[in-house]
Parts: sequence; C-alpha cells; structure tokens
Amino acid sequence: MIRFEEVEKRYGDHLVLDKLDFEVTRGEHVTLIGPSGSGKTTILRLLMTLERPSGGVIWVDGEPLSHARTPGGGLKPATEKQLRESRRKIGMVFQQFNLFPNMNVLRNITEAPVTVLGTDRGEAEARAIELLDLVGLGDKVDAHPTQLSGGQQQRVAIARALAMRPDVLLLDEVTSALDPELVAGVLDLLRQIARDTDITMLCVTHEMNFARDVSDQVLMFDSGRIVEQGPPEKIFSDPEHQRTREFLNAVL
Ligand code: ATP
Repeated sequence: MIRFEEVEKRYGDHLVLDKLDFEVTRGEHVTLIGPSGSGKTTILRLLMTLERPSGGVIWVDGEPLSHARTPGGGLKPATEKQLRESRRKIGMVFQQFNLFPNMNVLRNITEAPVTVLGTDRGEAEARAIELLDLVGLGDKVDAHPTQLSGGQQQRVAIARALAMRPDVLLLDEVTSALDPELVAGVLDLLRQIARDTDITMLCVTHEMNFARDVSDQVLMFDSGRIVEQGPPEKIFSDPEHQRTREFLNAVL
C-alpha cells in the first residue's frame, strides 16, 4: 500500500530523513515512535504531499506520490495538480485539530467532500451526520469549533478526515494538545476505528499503551533513520537496540 524507497528529506544542510526504506501493507496499523526531531512528522507531511522528498520515491498503491511517470517510463516531479490527485486517498488529523473556525461542525465535515470530490451536498450532509454519530457528537451539528472542548474538536477533525473516505489515515500526536481527562475518549474512538474499518493507519504518538493495543508494526526512529521495527510485543517488551531501550525508559 505504502512504500518509502530511499526517501531523503533535507532542509538546507539539515538531513531530516536519511535514505529511508519501509513498507506498510493495506489495512495495517503502524505506529511511529522516537525522540523529538527524529523525523516522524516529516514522514506524515510527505505522505500528505505537504512536503516533497529531496530524494527517493514514495509509492502509494503502486503509484509514485510526489512524482509522475514520463512516457519513457521514468519519473519526474509531480505538478501541483497531480499532487492534489494523490492527496485524495490520504486523510490526516493534526495535533491542533485545524478546524475551519468560521464554519460550523457540519460545514467543516462536508466542505472537502463537496468541493474536492464533487459529492452532492445533501449526500455529504447525510454522511457527516452518520460520522458525527460515530464520533459521539450527533448533537453538535450546528455548533462552531469555539463552542466545543478540545476533545470534541478532535472528534470533529477525525470525522472530517473520514468523510473523504480515505484509504490511509495519518494521525499526528492527536491527543498531545488535549486536557488529560479528554485523552482516553479520543484514543477509544481511534481504537474503534482501527477495529471496525479497513483503513490503513500511520500514527505518531507518545501514548505507548495505545500504540501497544492498536499497532501491527512499530517503527522506532532516531535522527531520520529507523533504528528498530517490529510488532509491539517485541519492541515494547524486548527491544534489541540500546537507543530504543533508552527512549522507552524515558517515556514509559
Ligand atoms: P516531534 O516528536 O518533536 O514532533 P518529529 O520526530 O516529528 O518530532 P519532525 O517534526 O519530523 O520530527 O522534524 C524533524 C527535523 O526536521 C527537526 O529537526 C525539525 O527541526 C526539522 N524541520 C521540520 N520541518 C522543518 C522546516 N519546515 N524547516 C526546517 N526544518 C524543519
């Protein structure tokens, strides 16, 4: 489903991702862990095509994400229009919710399906109401983001991402900005989505119990490289690398 092939990302002289290779299969739930600055968010931003790789290729469903095929069979950097096409399969939920402050909850959820996918507004609204029920906010259709708690805003952001029917959902520290008492509810919702849908999930989180519960695979990063990867029972209980042990000792 997703393959990083020798992906590099540089900001000026700073090498943030160093010839990264990994694969995520369809329906898999993958958690990215590692110290601050190790490149986890950059991976999600590359997948969202908010950034372009400095080298290498990211493949999604056998198609190059930030590149287009040339008639000769090679690859060239994708145009903005091609990037927008690639982006459709992938939804992202951010740490800071990023809801549209001037739109009510319903409009926040229906805006992209209507304007990007061309979904009929009535159909988009019916689906939004279903999603709001799913995330436990069926009574907040008309509310504005400022009238909602952080946890409620994050649930709307999750509903908004699901409204695009993504094949892949990217979650970037989605509980880090929440008051502690709101974290468990959002994590339970994500556990439910992981259990009940076939969406491929890539998740950057510091919630190690959540990572242990939902992940099929954990990738441990340091300085733009994967230092260790494997199933959560192995990474959390019997890590092989000193760097992983140090990191887990610091966060667990
Ligand atoms: P955290 O857990 O703190 O969010 P992270 O592992 O997600 O960290 P990234 O946000 O991917 O790390 O950042 C990796 C490195 O890239 C950091 O050193 C960061 O300062 C740098 N970086 C990220 N975005 C930019 C940018 N737009 N310009 C320059 N440097 C950047």
